[in-house]
Amino acid sequence: MQSSASTVSRRLLGRLRDVMAGGGSAQDRLDRVVHLIAADMVAEVCSCYVMRAGEVLELFATEGLNKTAVHATRLRVGEGVVGDIAAHARPVALADAQSHPLFAYRPETGEELFHSLVGVPIIRGGRVIGVLVVQNKSQRQYTEEEVETLETVAMVLAELVSAGELIKREELAPVDGNALLPVRVEGVRLTAGVGIGVAVMHEPRVVVQKLVAEDPVAERTRLRDALARMRAHLDEMFEAQDLAFGGEHRDVLETYRMFAEDAGWIGRIGEAIQSGLTAEAAVQKVHEDTRVRMSQVSDPYLRERLHDLEDLANRLMSHLVHGFGAGTAASADLPDNVILVARSMGPTELLDYDRRRLRGIVLEEGSPTMHVAILARALDVPVVGRVPEALARIDAGDPIIVDGDNGQIFVRPSDDIQDAYAANMDARSARIASYAAMRDLPAITRCGQPVKLQLNAGLLVDLPHLEATGADGIGLYRTEMPFMARAQLPDVAAQTQLYSKILDAAEGKPVVFRTLDVGSDKLLPYWDSGEEDNPAMGWRSIRITLDRPAVMRQQLRALIAAAAGRELHVMFPMVAEVNELDRARALLDMELERRRGGGHELPARIRVGTMLEVPALAWQLPALLKRVDFISVGSNDLTQFLFAIDRGNPRISERYDTLSPAMLNFMRRLHKETHKAGVQLSVCGEMAGRPLEALALLGIGIRSLSMTASSIGPVKAMVRSLFLPALERYMECLYDLPDRSVREKLRNFAVDHGVVL
Ligand code: PEP
Ligand code: MG
Repeated sequence: MQSSASTVSRRLLGRLRDVMAGGGSAQDRLDRVVHLIAADMVAEVCSCYVMRAGEVLELFATEGLNKTAVHATRLRVGEGVVGDIAAHARPVALADAQSHPLFAYRPETGEELFHSLVGVPIIRGGRVIGVLVVQNKSQRQYTEEEVETLETVAMVLAELVSAGELIKREELAPVDGNALLPVRVEGVRLTAGVGIGVAVMHEPRVVVQKLVAEDPVAERTRLRDALARMRAHLDEMFEAQDLAFGGEHRDVLETYRMFAEDAGWIGRIGEAIQSGLTAEAAVQKVHEDTRVRMSQVSDPYLRERLHDLEDLANRLMSHLVHGFGAGTAASADLPDNVILVARSMGPTELLDYDRRRLRGIVLEEGSPTMHVAILARALDVPVVGRVPEALARIDAGDPIIVDGDNGQIFVRPSDDIQDAYAANMDARSARIASYAAMRDLPAITRCGQPVKLQLNAGLLVDLPHLEATGADGIGLYRTEMPFMARAQLPDVAAQTQLYSKILDAAEGKPVVFRTLDVGSDKLLPYWDSGEEDNPAMGWRSIRITLDRPAVMRQQLRALIAAAAGRELHVMFPMVAEVNELDRARALLDMELERRRGGGHELPARIRVGTMLEVPALAWQLPALLKRVDFISVGSNDLTQFLFAIDRGNPRISERYDTLSPAMLNFMRRLHKETHKAGVQLSVCGEMAGRPLEALALLGIGIRSLSMTASSIGPVKAMVRSLFLPALERYMECLYDLPDRSVREKLRNFAVDHGVVL
């Protein structure tokens, strides 16, 4: 049904569109807009107030009030009727505004002549950024349709106000509710370091360019089609997840479906279309209204649902604007200092971004040993995870400080905070310089024990760190990283070239190449391994490469060719049984034979090792130790399997501690056995790069650690300040404790004994 109000609204919107598309400054356009609204609504006054920093509404344009009041009249949020509209983010219509208890008289405006008033908030990104007011001399009653028309117009005005020409974007950028203050939000440190930049949404909100439409029937059809596409997509998702997961996933998807089929939601979108908006603008309008209302609700369950609605509205807009569901920002034009904001992300997705522009990452979810965090550490990009409501609090373009050291972020920080962090970054550079100064000092304890400190690497950008940190070599080269960063599986020639480059860069220092370790959360974009109920324990790593021996053989062929005349270290990941190692070793021997047969030069020496990540392997040591030259403990996966704790699940990631008697006993036994057999044991999981954990490993007797480049300095400082006999003695009393963690005890030991942590 088409009401006369919607005809009025569409006519007005059509004119507004012409003004907006016309030339002139933003201020000129705003002046013309208020003129137009006043004329169209047969009102003597139409004024637009814009929110400025410090929660102040400034009169920016008026038709009917004294022009001298423009940019002079200011009201605080909550002050007067206009301030009240902003404070509550809801329209107000009064036949006699002056008798309203909140009425704030401003003589400079000359508004005593006008009795009735209707005002609506101008909302953008769930926040009030201004107020649009219409006034009449007579005491008239405004109809509901008129209020709605004004709301629709306000949506168009929101574009003009937020475009950044009237006032700077930063001024508009506010926080919780309608405030304009900067916020500090606590999360969890996933990767240390500090980054300053501007927010880029990993899955960007869809930007609606075309707001006004002439043909509501056509827009309704577009909406119907997009809804059908979105529902079909959600059903697919639902089916895919349905069998695999109960509980949470199901709840979320059910909620999605509930919203997607919610007659009220869809009905409101239909009404907005009827008033002259395009289908996508209508979705945005209804969403903005809901968002601002829901953000004032304190019930955490309902606020949580806001995420779902947000996601859904974005999906629907994406279907309307792009014809498909939402994509990522990686390929868009990015600023030079990107702070990436996402709910969660996989490592492959991170690799899509240009590292040189990446300054930090903010995640709503996440845990320290998930691969995106490890990759970020390798790239030296600070990450703060589990930031509550990050997506709702942060808008694209907001200035952000990511303080990975303290697990906090600052959204729209004040100048003071920015200055403090700039100074902090200087101090950080100085500290890094002090580590650099230690570069040539040996990693030897105070009691004279040498410790081998090696690097974890996986990208070419990691290689200069070898020189810069003075590390003893590369203890873990994650070969899957280059596989993940490419559009297709690299062939033998490409791999050979890459591995040679790495060996060249290492200049004779050892490089331990770990064969392809994909699966779980390390997915290759071109390789679909299908859905799995539990990918961490699924078809991953050596299980894949033994089942696809051609891939493994090609990789080994490339490694052998690259290491011709040099030393080659090969390490197999996720080995659970000695038998798997034997089968992998057989493939290596086949490739060596092949090369020998071809008359090509062989590596000067080959050292074969295994990762120890699956506890079962530790119960086959007599057979294992006869077969390997070295063992490297992948503490990330080992912890996962030792405690049966999903390393990517934020809910439980802090439930168990690596510094627990269980883990320490496990490592101690492993050390004793390998030591007796003369097989080198090292640790290359994240544990090795944290000074306190590294201290515990040294106390156990382990003397070889491999870690991300930024950890070498802090761990070396710890090593050089450590007196081992005292630690070994102290640790004797820890192994049999019933405690869940001995972290505090070890920290106290370090403090008492002057160990630098
Ligand atoms: C580990 O599991 O500790 C490890 C080093 O391997 P990744 O983190 O690559 O799985
Ligand atoms: Mg692993």
